[in-house]
Amino acid sequence: MSEKIYVGVDVGGTTVKLGICNSDGTLLQTYEGPTEVSKGPDTILHNIAKYVKLIVEESSYEWSQVGGVGIGIAGFLDIPNGIMKNSPNLNLNNIDIKGFLEKELNTIIKVNNDANVAALGEAWAGAGRGIANCVMYTLGTGVGGGIIIDGKIVEGFQSVAGELGHMAIVPDLEAIQCGCGKMGCLETVSSATGIIRMAKEAVARGDRTSLVEVEDIMAKDVLDAAKAGDEVATRIVNRAAYYLGRSMSMMSVILNPEYYIIGGGVAKAGDFLFNQINEVFEKYTQEASKDGVKIVPAVLGNNAGVVGAAGLILRG
Ligand SMILES: [Zn+2]
Repeated sequence: MSEKIYVGVDVGGTTVKLGICNSDGTLLQTYEGPTEVSKGPDTILHNIAKYVKLIVEESSYEWSQVGGVGIGIAGFLDIPNGIMKNSPNLNLNNIDIKGFLEKELNTIIKVNNDANVAALGEAWAGAGRGIANCVMYTLGTGVGGGIIIDGKIVEGFQSVAGELGHMAIVPDLEAIQCGCGKMGCLETVSSATGIIRMAKEAVARGDRTSLVEVEDIMAKDVLDAAKAGDEVATRIVNRAAYYLGRSMSMMSVILNPEYYIIGGGVAKAGDFLFNQINEVFEKYTQEASKDGVKIVPAVLGNNAGVVGAAGLILRG
């Protein structure tokens, strides 16, 4: 048997997760080990190489079957050259990830950022399987994004395409400053962090809401309160959904993707949230751009990263 396999590596701040996929994106084997960020860039890179060798050794596959290794990692990259320009989380600056791993592993190496890789994972082998054009939103601490057109990641001129969380969409009068320094970014209202902030502000203002009884408000508390009919929580969730829907209507006239895939913790609110987003999308999107378009939940969960990283070799 000489079936090709592809190794995907999802480099996180604490853990490096790895997976072996076949050519249709089925996850065959997983492995994980510590990133050891505190030991510096050399250790991180050597750990990645070591874990790649280990996952293949421990599998029933031969090294000769490896068609390449894809790396998903958070930070600002020069994607074509596989160079990490700046990753605050991992404390990596101007590190040639691709060059190091090519020498160490002697195979094809592709590097991309974690949000793009998660989008590719879902597009290739998750919610968007078989769909050539889709846009993914990950609603977590921030709003991550990735754009897949004709089956491939849209990287852009400076490797920063698909930063959907930083679309400046909230009007100035209501805008607050984003972590990126600009005003009114989507993630200030539609991320878990944004939802929590709006809830805490409402409580501090003395608004009448069941959230006053929650000690340390999480996004899930706000979503649950909204589902139970709490008016303040409902307003907050409506607002998060409104700007997501508006941003999708803009994406649709620009790119006309077939699917919007929504992942991350906030997406667990399910139909309750999706119905609201759909309503806004329906209202603001011109007929031709929305015809047949679906807004669907992500299905791979935490595996999107390793699957998408493996997919970089075939689809990156
Ligand atoms: Zn921003």
